[in-house]
Amino acid sequence: MNDGKSITGDLSGVIASGMCIGCGACEMADGSVRVSLDPTRLIFQPETPGGLDAATVCPAVRVDYAGLQSWLFPGAEPGSHGVVRSVHLSQSTDEGRNLRASSGGLIKEVLRSMLSADRIDGVIALDHVEGLEFASRLVTDPDDVDSLPGSIYHNLRQTSALELLRDTPGRLAIVGIPCQLEGMWQWVRTKAPHLRDKVVLTVGLLCGWQYSHHSIAAMGQYLGFDPAEIDDIAYRGGGPVGKLTVTTRGGGAFSASRRVDFGYQVAFDRHFNTTRCHVCVNHSNFLADLVVGDAWLPSTVFTRTGVSLVVCRTALAEEVLAGLVTDGRCVSIEVGPEEIRESQTDRVVFGEFAYAYADHLRALGGHVPDLHGPNEGHGTPKPRRQVAKFHRELVRKQALMAARRYRYLKWRKATLELRPYVTRYVRWFAVRILRIKSLSGQRREIPRERFSGFR
Ligand SMILES: Cc1cc2nc3c(=O)[nH]c(=O)nc-3n(C[C@H](O)[C@H](O)[C@H](O)COP(=O)(O)OP(=O)(O)OC[C@H]3O[C@@H](n4cnc5c(N)ncnc54)[C@H](O)[C@@H]3O)c2cc1C
Repeated sequence: MNDGKSITGDLSGVIASGMCIGCGACEMADGSVRVSLDPTRLIFQPETPGGLDAATVCPAVRVDYAGLQSWLFPGAEPGSHGVVRSVHLSQSTDEGRNLRASSGGLIKEVLRSMLSADRIDGVIALDHVEGLEFASRLVTDPDDVDSLPGSIYHNLRQTSALELLRDTPGRLAIVGIPCQLEGMWQWVRTKAPHLRDKVVLTVGLLCGWQYSHHSIAAMGQYLGFDPAEIDDIAYRGGGPVGKLTVTTRGGGAFSASRRVDFGYQVAFDRHFNTTRCHVCVNHSNFLADLVVGDAWLPSTVFTRTGVSLVVCRTALAEEVLAGLVTDGRCVSIEVGPEEIRESQTDRVVFGEFAYAYADHLRALGGHVPDLHGPNEGHGTPKPRRQVAKFHRELVRKQALMAARRYRYLKWRKATLELRPYVTRYVRWFAVRILRIKSLSGQRREIPRERFSGFR
């Protein structure tokens, strides 16, 4: 690391605190480490603590955001959203592709166009292996891009992306969630800097959280499937929000609306997240060239198929997006960074909860990753009382998950947790549907005429 801070020790604090996110950087840096699914927490984590090499690259120990940003985007000045050249709302003009995708289908359009124009030799992106297992795959044919899945929300071992990067010659694009790219770049920068030049473009996903496999185990109880029998799983597709869809080897098909199914609200509430997500400050994927997320805006609720929020951090990212518009592959309008805040909320964009929760955990004396992003100090940290209450709830609910008491967790949500649950819906309805902020003059909506060509 080049930020002047030295790292000591190994991964024992990461293992004890359950803060691993499964990026696999430790496995690449230290041959003694193996990452596997912990049978109690149901997250991927190292079996053994390894040594200093593993700790140096681990994003659950520290991320040197300032150093990595100046290394990746030389000469650019990071603001509160990281390095930003421009922000856009975009949608693929291919209705089928857009419907199958998680938001606007932008990622598939970007990858297809880079491969077709011979600007890259291959794409490293997540694909389905079997059951709940997903791993990165090398895609070299533009027509193969559409076979990649939409967003996968459960925790994964992402080492395959790093192995492909190490072993594949040529010019590459890589798709990844923020913590995955943190691990990748820390490993490349400190242990394999020659790999930097292979990466022509990183396509990042905006990411609020991922989930431990307890989410799927709970849904299995609620919907009546055995997680060990899962053949395939999808979380999105078919519209802006989409459904959780599970098929089993015996031919069973199970689905749940992600917006209204009560079981889904229980199994995918934030207490089921991997623990590090609660201290993550990098929702906006500060280390990716082109970042894609959902445009959750009052001005985009009209969409039947989904609209992507796109952040361009480099000139190449802007050029690729402009090329897609010129070629008629996507429609796009430029907006301001305030749409990132409106779509994702200050709570996550500025780490209002994460910084406060990390402070609370530090005061309790546990292992806490050292994460100080360019967004620090731009939001209002949540009050100590609120994070302390969350922590008590989390400890209690993680114990219930470990004991597989998913039915009790459902009962709990319907009784003890009913008030915050209802409050969340009321807030969503007021902001997105009733446009309360626009009506009260707190913000200006993007006029509908600007979305001509969007569906
Ligand atoms: C764990 C997770 C959390 C997210 N949280 C948010 C959020 O809070 N707010 C928000 O606006 N957007 C979030 N997103 C991003 C959003 O769901 C869409 O992925 C994004 O808008 C891109 O949509 P698309 O239609 O362009 O891409 P798609 O056409 O749906 O393509 C998705 C691409 O991402 C890759 N991919 C899918 N899952 C993963 C994964 N787990 N790890 C690495 N690569 C993966 C696939 O290989 C594919 O290339 C999240 C995504 C993930 C995976």
